[in-house]
Amino acid sequence: MSAKLPALFVSHGAPTLVIDPVPTHQFLVELGRRLPRPRAILAVSAHWDTDAPRLTTGAAPHTMYDFHGFPSELYEMTYPAPGARDVALRAMELLAGAGVDASGDASRGYDHGAWVPLSLMYPDADIPVAQLSIQTARTPAEHLEMGRALAPLREEGVLILASGNVTHNLRDVFTHDMLAAPVPYAREFADWLTRNVEAGRIDPLLDYLAQGPSARRNHPSADHYLPLLTAMGAGGGGEGVKGRLLHDGYTYGVLSMAAYAWD
Ligand code: ZN
Repeated sequence: MSAKLPALFVSHGAPTLVIDPVPTHQFLVELGRRLPRPRAILAVSAHWDTDAPRLTTGAAPHTMYDFHGFPSELYEMTYPAPGARDVALRAMELLAGAGVDASGDASRGYDHGAWVPLSLMYPDADIPVAQLSIQTARTPAEHLEMGRALAPLREEGVLILASGNVTHNLRDVFTHDMLAAPVPYAREFADWLTRNVEAGRIDPLLDYLAQGPSARRNHPSADHYLPLLTAMGAGGGGEGVKGRLLHDGYTYGVLSMAAYAWD
């Protein structure tokens, strides 16, 4: 494949997104159908946080049930996509070229930040997947740089799929109905984020804790925000490189389910 694939950021919400009839569920189903078919996928998930970048290198990563108290149906689902060791090794090489040491992990499976959106986008599980970790101990700028280093993969048939959440205050989730209207503090942050993505303004996004409205309330931890910067870096990562809003929506009133593409 020679067509350059987009870099994507999607919001994965609660694990029940995979079964809930909400608009974001249908959006992800349709997104998988309309994208050019990748030869492999590099998934960057909020749910794998390590000290230094790690990549899955196993031939058949298992499905991880890294959540508690959800319907039993979820614990019976599997995502049996083959691993993409070649992509993991290539990513390590590209990261090394940018001065970033990354290592492989042959025993790590797919966490729900990866397999929930992948199950909707590519239900046949026939496209090989490698997963890349995030590092909450490292800066937003380092996550942008990691994405920049990985950008050549997009011309090698690899879809870069970063998965987090545009807003992510779990403490407030279960005080709202699944389809509740967005609360103002989440809407303000999500709208601010979308404006900056669409304008290709990087500095405010790196400095989100100081500049984003109610940033700490929307992101008590950086884990669901940082994948966005890696997608942005892979998408071009320069000031003025504009992203596109692919999807907007909310679950539980506090989780913005927005998704972006950098073409
Ligand atoms: Zn999550």
